[in-house]
Amino acid sequence: MKELARFSIGIGDRFGMQGQAQLQALADARNLGCTIIPVWNKSYREHSIIHTDPSQVREEADRAVAALGWKDPYHVDADHISLKTVDLFLDYSDFFTLDVADYTGKPAEEASIARFVNKYRNRIGHLSIPGIDEGLEITEATLLTVARKYLLAVQEAGKLYRYIAEKKGAENFITEVSMDETDQPQGPLDLFFILAMIADEGIPAQTIAPKFTGRFNKGVDYVGNLAQFEKEFNQDILVIAYAVREFGLPRNLKLSVHSGSDKFSIYPAIKKAIYTHNAGLHLKTAGTTWLEELIGLASAGGSALTIAKKIYREAYHRFDELCGPYATVIDIKRDQLPSPDQVDEWDGDTYASALRHIEGHPRYNPHFRQLLHVGYKVAAELGETYRSALKAHEAHIAEQVRENLLDRHIRQVFIQ
Ligand SMILES: [Zn+2]
Repeated sequence: MKELARFSIGIGDRFGMQGQAQLQALADARNLGCTIIPVWNKSYREHSIIHTDPSQVREEADRAVAALGWKDPYHVDADHISLKTVDLFLDYSDFFTLDVADYTGKPAEEASIARFVNKYRNRIGHLSIPGIDEGLEITEATLLTVARKYLLAVQEAGKLYRYIAEKKGAENFITEVSMDETDQPQGPLDLFFILAMIADEGIPAQTIAPKFTGRFNKGVDYVGNLAQFEKEFNQDILVIAYAVREFGLPRNLKLSVHSGSDKFSIYPAIKKAIYTHNAGLHLKTAGTTWLEELIGLASAGGSALTIAKKIYREAYHRFDELCGPYATVIDIKRDQLPSPDQVDEWDGDTYASALRHIEGHPRYNPHFRQLLHVGYKVAAELGETYRSALKAHEAHIAEQVRENLLDRHIRQVFIQ
């Protein structure tokens, strides 16, 4: 397998134009003494909405790396792929996020469930994991429950992993297993046995994305119980360290946090946990980069601001269509949205500060922000009009992108 470094971050952007600005933020972090490896990611869902393809992500990454003379590794992630979509990504990706959420909760064949229960029957009783004080009790019912919930999903991940390994060669890529897009969070025992299943399938996972407690809505802060999150996040790290030794998984296996941008309230807990336990972290952030483009356009004023207003007007009128694919990961109160006519009256700074995610700023409006976040389809439809506005204000926009990634994300999560 190709090896992933301790710290890595998922970057990228809808229109493939901010790669260099994002990499600049990582170069700045490196100068501050913290090496974080960039992983460009873009999901099949995103590609299909804006009609791009994975080759463009590879080109963007290569171009940014060449432009900045980046010497450390970098990767391109086929994000949330399944057997149905993986082929498109094979030539361009060296990082594969195997998404098996669709199979969780669907039971595997009875015979394989029975095999699993038999194999782990010797774990029945008290499980003590170094660092976790509370008792974790395993019964036969625990084994049956986890097997019914997750075994089929991990078997599917195994099929997908072996398919990629056969096409690309096992030594040429990094594997992540993601289960974040499910309804139920996974507790420490779930994670422990999911990792056992991953080892049984021979998947050399280096990152795992469980579903954490609380809501990870797109582009806005975490919503949930902070103390509970912190406790579970620490437990997950300890479970992983233990499972790596018990099941012989890759030594660098680490947590991956999806929808990781803008989760400002949990960043301090995440940072503390990774340094306390000497653990790694992968943080996926790509989706909100395009909002920095909009902020840049709005604050540039003139015809660029007009484009930003036009995008909002269109998004406002196409609310259901745009929000549909993201229904479970957004939370927009329609009565909190300004009308397009109101927004037309705004100057560039008003638009930018309604959109820019600064909690407590009197103008910040998370509903406005979330709607625009899913409104990238409108910008995509503007085509050349949108792209040439980005080019005309390139330096100004790049600075928004760099600063957002470095100051509001990397410094808060990774830099001690
Ligand atoms: Zn995800």
